[in-house]
Amino acid sequence: MATAVSTATVTTRSRSSPRTKSSSSKTPSKGVATTSTTQTCNEASQIENDFFWTYTEEPHRTRRRAIIQAHPDVLKLCGPEPLTKYIVFGVVATQFVAAYLLRNSSFFSPAFLLTAYIVGATANQNLFLAIHEISHNLAFKSPALNRTLALLANLPIAIPYSASFRPYHLTHHKSLGVDGIDVDLPTSLEALFLNSVAGKTFFCTCQILFYALRPMFVLQLPLGPLHFANIAVQVAFDVALVKFFGWMPLAYLILSSFLAGSLHPCAGHFIAEHYVFEGAGTLRSHTTAKATADTKKQSQRTSASKSDKLPVKAPSPAETYSYYGPLNFFTYNVGYHNEHHDFPAVPWSRLPALHEAAREYYEDLPCHRSWCGVMWYFITDPKVGLWNRVKREAGSGGRLVGGLTRAEDNGE
Ligand SMILES: [Zn+2]
Ligand SMILES: [Zn+2]
Repeated sequence: MATAVSTATVTTRSRSSPRTKSSSSKTPSKGVATTSTTQTCNEASQIENDFFWTYTEEPHRTRRRAIIQAHPDVLKLCGPEPLTKYIVFGVVATQFVAAYLLRNSSFFSPAFLLTAYIVGATANQNLFLAIHEISHNLAFKSPALNRTLALLANLPIAIPYSASFRPYHLTHHKSLGVDGIDVDLPTSLEALFLNSVAGKTFFCTCQILFYALRPMFVLQLPLGPLHFANIAVQVAFDVALVKFFGWMPLAYLILSSFLAGSLHPCAGHFIAEHYVFEGAGTLRSHTTAKATADTKKQSQRTSASKSDKLPVKAPSPAETYSYYGPLNFFTYNVGYHNEHHDFPAVPWSRLPALHEAAREYYEDLPCHRSWCGVMWYFITDPKVGLWNRVKREAGSGGRLVGGLTRAEDNGE
């Protein structure tokens, strides 16, 4: 049976004197600067000017194995969700109608800007996350149908995105935190130059551009036929839109995409998922936050689950954080991010059931209650910033999923 892991094997590489140190217990590997400290999570979160370097395996594979052993029935939650395609059709249609209705509006009119922020950004964030679901082959059983639906979901985003997102995202799953491979990680350059309230505000405002441009500098994956199909379909759609309805519908869709990855409540998930927030004001223990409601359920748990079936705890600081708030409604439950990384084959609609089934594995993990709060603390709290990511050194076992591998076809 799995045992709880409580010792952190997380080190910091400092280029300036850290504010908090504890005794060194690990020899730095090649390229690691002279000051290396093993931290508890709270101590580590106070270190400035470097990432959290870990030498442990990512926590999700271990927890997945433990959960399957304790609750084999969770595997029945895996598989496509038929509802997804209807939601995609509905949201794509909504954006088409909104774009059409705004065809004669001026760019700076309140109607145009407010619709883009309230309706357009929410809808396009929803489509980003539909494409995320589809990238895991969770809309249809057939990979070809999933790829086709992704092209449709991409249309209101206005920029070709779905084909390139998939290999990068599957690599994020397979190589979580691996420097130079997981492009969800900010680079040292970004962290260095944006390490201020103004810098973090700029980062949050233009998040979508960082996500779009970072892969060009970090890891270029080869283009395949799907990329060219994505580009061809999208350009044809955009050209037709301008030809028949003018520039404003296209401007509305592009603005919607930008705002979806900017200072928008739903964009908080980009920050919430993997930035180390321990010590910041928005973070809570799931157990503490829901203590009253859970008292009854907890008392019904078997004694076995409290003793010999201890949940596997990841080393501190935690590198994945779930969010259990209301905005999950608009975002395919992407807030259930620990659950999603543990079981990428479980669709959005069944992540809450997974959480309930394996509750003892999730309730003690730190989690977020507010994506707006996440952005606020990310920007204003000097203890949180772009350095607050857990990284593994390149070559530490990360797996690239950029080609036509079996894993990629399976969307795992
Ligand atoms: Zn993730
Ligand atoms: Zn995913």
